[in-house]
This record gives sequence, structure tokens and C-alpha cells, in this order.
Amino acid sequence: MELETLCLYAGYEPKNGDPQSPPIVQSTTFKYETTEQVGNLFDLKEAGFFYTRLGNPTVDVVEKKIAALEGGVGALCTSSGQAANAFAIMNIASAGDHIVSTTSIYGGTVNLFAVTLKKLGIDVTFVNAECSDAELEQAIRPNTKAFFGETIANPAIDVFDIERFATLAHKHGLPLIVDNTFATPLLCRPFTFGADIVTHSTTKYMDGHAIQMGGVIVDSGKFDWKASGRFPELTQPDESYHGLIYTEAFGAAAYIAKARVQLMRDFGSCQSALGAFLTNQGLETLPLRIEKHSANADAVAHWLEKHPKVESVRYPTLKSSPFYERAQKYLPKGCSGVLSFSVKGGREAGARFIDSLKMASLLTHVADIRTCVLHPASMTHRQLTDEQLSACGITPSMVRLSVGIEHCQDIIADLEQALAQV
Ligand code: PLP
Repeated sequence: MELETLCLYAGYEPKNGDPQSPPIVQSTTFKYETTEQVGNLFDLKEAGFFYTRLGNPTVDVVEKKIAALEGGVGALCTSSGQAANAFAIMNIASAGDHIVSTTSIYGGTVNLFAVTLKKLGIDVTFVNAECSDAELEQAIRPNTKAFFGETIANPAIDVFDIERFATLAHKHGLPLIVDNTFATPLLCRPFTFGADIVTHSTTKYMDGHAIQMGGVIVDSGKFDWKASGRFPELTQPDESYHGLIYTEAFGAAAYIAKARVQLMRDFGSCQSALGAFLTNQGLETLPLRIEKHSANADAVAHWLEKHPKVESVRYPTLKSSPFYERAQKYLPKGCSGVLSFSVKGGREAGARFIDSLKMASLLTHVADIRTCVLHPASMTHRQLTDEQLSACGITPSMVRLSVGIEHCQDIIADLEQALAQV
């Protein structure tokens, strides 16, 4: 099936007389007849739902659907995108380990890596995504466990060279983790370019209506954890499951199985049944929305670029973008609704522009069906130093615009009247 069709049907096959749309299984727990059966579930000898933290039928539909969309062997929904990225790393790195991440990633992920994971003993080296192969290889240490990057970086809108990073990661027995939030599998499928693990904040385009927090980790099933020799947590006995070895018990799905039965068991950042139901509603119309978001953003970016009060615009479909060629390869169907631009006149002019908008909302979010804006330097990235800001490709006056699915002329009219106030 094509992706558009999978968005409707993957993960749920109603039988005769079943509800047409996946029901909300609003239950924390599931009943069994014998202690032997429950024991087998706890020992992972049998598969089945027994407690919603570890699995729930409604959440399962969304996990199967997103795994199918990305082309993976399995997925794990989490309570937010932050939890997904934290779990994606913690599943293979612990105290004493190290990861390599690009600098141009979401500010919350920068904090997670540079502050919180560091406190847990996981060190990170940030590299410029455009660094040379030699520089990237110099960042690798004997205790390195993964490379990390974002397909379309938030908020600099840089396009990540997934294939180059995957090739170098694999050369050193490392997996590449890609946060594919902005692109969604409708615009880019990182596994087809060699990525091993994909994460999403489903809070963004997958939900798309600004109503439900969520995250997901997807496992390509292609990384050979055993051959790498760097991942004893996956290839040696787990005492908390009576010596179970993930690569032996779960084969290609070892990584995602471990994330569920170990990290979700112990940290518990699970998705709720209602949350999964709402995310599924969003997924059903994702193809239509992402196409419209991308077309509107392309038109707005070209319009902004010609405006005399605009200093610069970042959007990969602009010929002036350094990522134009790369976007043709990775994002041939469009580049999502998110763009960023700087108004002439610095921080003050940027603020006046935002305060003058009438239709577009000022809020901490992107990917809503309604057009919205934010000011990264004073909002999402405010914890970062000026040095970190510029490493993420952010200027003090930068406005991040998330173009919605309104009629494009109405979006442009709002921007035009706000720019007239600057
Ligand atoms: N990854 C990216 C690219 C994001 O933009 C965000 C949030 O904006 C996150 C992860 C974190 O997701 P959440 O807000 O769902 O925790």
C-alpha cells in the first residue's frame, strides 16, 4: 500500500461487526484466567496486553501504523517527543558512554543531551552537521554509542545529510538516530537513506491539530547490534528478565523490544489510549495536511524573500537556500510548513512584527493546521547561550513561522499588514 493508504488502514483491521475506527481502550489493565499465563507475559514468553504502561490496544494501532509508514519492524509510543528522544538514547547508552549529535537540533533536545544526559553520565559531542567526514570521525570515541540529527532541523530549517552520517556511523559500528518530526514519513523516510532508528514528536504534524502530546521511536530492524560489538545491553543477559538476551529473544526487533520492556517498564512515560486515539485521527489526514502545509510554506517563503523589510528567509525550496539541492534528494515532495526568517531592524523589529499579527497566533508550537509564530531566542531556545544559539543557526531577530492550511492569500495578507507596522 502507498503511504496515503497506510495512514488510513495500517495497524487496525476491523473484523465483522467491529468498530470502523479503532476504539479507545480506556483500561489500565487486562484480565487473565491463570497465574501461569500472567507469568508468561511478565517473563516475555508470550505476547499480550497486561498493563497499559507496557502496551494498550489503541496505542498499539498507532505504533503499528507509524512503523508501517516509516518502514520499520516496530515502534514504541511515548508520552511526548522529549521522552522519545531520551529513551532512544538511553536504550543504548548509559553512564560512561558518549553520543555524537549535530548542533542544529531542537533546543529541548540540546538541553536533554547537554545537561540532563550529562548528569546521568552520558557525554555528548556536538558537531556542525556540515563538518567534514574527518571532523565527524574525530568525534567518535571507543565509548560512542550513536549519531543523532534531525531531518529538517528545528528551527534553522537545515536539511540533514542522512546518507553521509549513516555511512560514517556504520563504518564505525554505530547506529544513526534521526528525529524525523518536521518531515514526517510522508515527506522523507530516513530508513531508506540508511538511518537505523527514527524518532518523532507526534505532537507536531502527526497530531497536527494542537491537541495531543506524544512521541514515538521506530526501529528499522536493520542495525546489527551483535556485529557492532558495542552494545552489551542488547547482546548479553538482562538480569531483570532472568537472563534474557534481547538480540536472541527478539531478533531484528531487539532494540524496540528492549525500549518497551525495560525503559517503559522502569520510567513509564507511556502514551494514553485517548492520546493514541487522537494521534490516529491526525495520522489519517496527515497526507492531505502535509501537502497543503508544504505548498503554502513554499509560496510564503518566495513571497517573503522578495519583501523589502525582510533580511533573510530560510526554506529549502528557495534557490537561495544552501540546502536546495539536498532537499531535492531527501524532500522531493515538499519541506513541511516550517520556515524561518529575519526582519530587518533586529530583535525589536522582530518583536513588533510578531505583536502586529492578527490571524497568526504567537505560541510555543509548530505544525498546527493554523498558522503560528514564535521567537526562538526568547522562547524555545531561551536557555541557550548566544554561542549555542548561533551554533543552532539562530539569530536574535529570527522568527519561526509555522505555515498552516488556511488559504495562502489570507496568510500573506496577515504577514503583509504586520510587516507594514515594522
Ligand atoms: N523533536 C523536535 C524536532 C521538536 O520540534 C520537538 C518539540 O518541538 C521535540 C522533539 C519534543 O517534542 P515534544 O514537545 O512532543 O516533547
